[in-house]
Amino acid sequence: MKKLIGFMMFMSMLLLTACSSEQEVQKTSEEPINVVATTTMIADLVRNIGGEYVDVTGLMGPGVDPHTYQPSASDVYTMDEADMIVYNGLHLEAQFIEMFEQFESRGVPTAVISEGIPSSEYQTVGGEGSTEYDPHIWFSVNNWIDASEYVAEQLAEYDPEHATIYGANAQAYVSELTELSDYIKTRIEEVPEQSRYLVTAHDAFQYFGREFHFEVVGLQGVNTQTEAGTGDISGLANFIAEHEISAVFVESSVSSRNIEALIEAVSSRGQELHNAGELYSDALGDEQHGTETYIKMYRSNIDTIVDALNGSEN
Ligand code: ZN
Repeated sequence: MKKLIGFMMFMSMLLLTACSSEQEVQKTSEEPINVVATTTMIADLVRNIGGEYVDVTGLMGPGVDPHTYQPSASDVYTMDEADMIVYNGLHLEAQFIEMFEQFESRGVPTAVISEGIPSSEYQTVGGEGSTEYDPHIWFSVNNWIDASEYVAEQLAEYDPEHATIYGANAQAYVSELTELSDYIKTRIEEVPEQSRYLVTAHDAFQYFGREFHFEVVGLQGVNTQTEAGTGDISGLANFIAEHEISAVFVESSVSSRNIEALIEAVSSRGQELHNAGELYSDALGDEQHGTETYIKMYRSNIDTIVDALNGSEN
């Protein structure tokens, strides 16, 4: 409770100091830009583009679920110290929305990764005519290429002196991403077309599915705030039995409980479904697992998916 009161006081302080000017803020010191990023994917992206001219603090660590993550009082102070705040948007960081608005209204430079991607690339959720967008934009490598260029532009706007360097870093990173995309396509070739189904705990991989021609089914929908019901589990079990899908995946940032229930439901239909390992969805991994960067994380996911579905494992 005490924490909450302190937090509320801090928020009202922000309100009082809010300024309405839309003036562009630029760098004034020789220090690296102090960037605060929400997710591990975004922190990694900014480090790649900013290089030695940025100091990046990530608010969410490995394995943290951004849909439900509540900013702590210390996160708010960290953001208050930032020269620039970088976040995903499209309601991924659902508990931060008001806070972002506060900082923006105070004139703190913010970069919203989803705004660096053409809105025509957004996938909607909830059927036709829906205006709710799927926030998992990083699983399209093409989106991440756009995001790299966007971050370079945003850093250059704040720090024009190093604009050429940010541009060059973005170019170098884009070629690494292009290589990653080629790797993904090559590995997917190993999976027979009729086996290209990806069944996971929550629906984080639709952008992957569209870009690399996989059918993606999530048990829980695009956010993790609502629990999967037994109806979802039994419906998905039928789907799995019908399409003779043999493997499902758990996710590093989502509880595996529902996937276990699904395996049981499929087994009661007389078919065997096995847990084919862990995918990284809404957070990167760590150095110990060699999955601490976006590129390493994606390669790890693809290896896990392809090794489970190409038949070599069974
Ligand atoms: Zn998610």
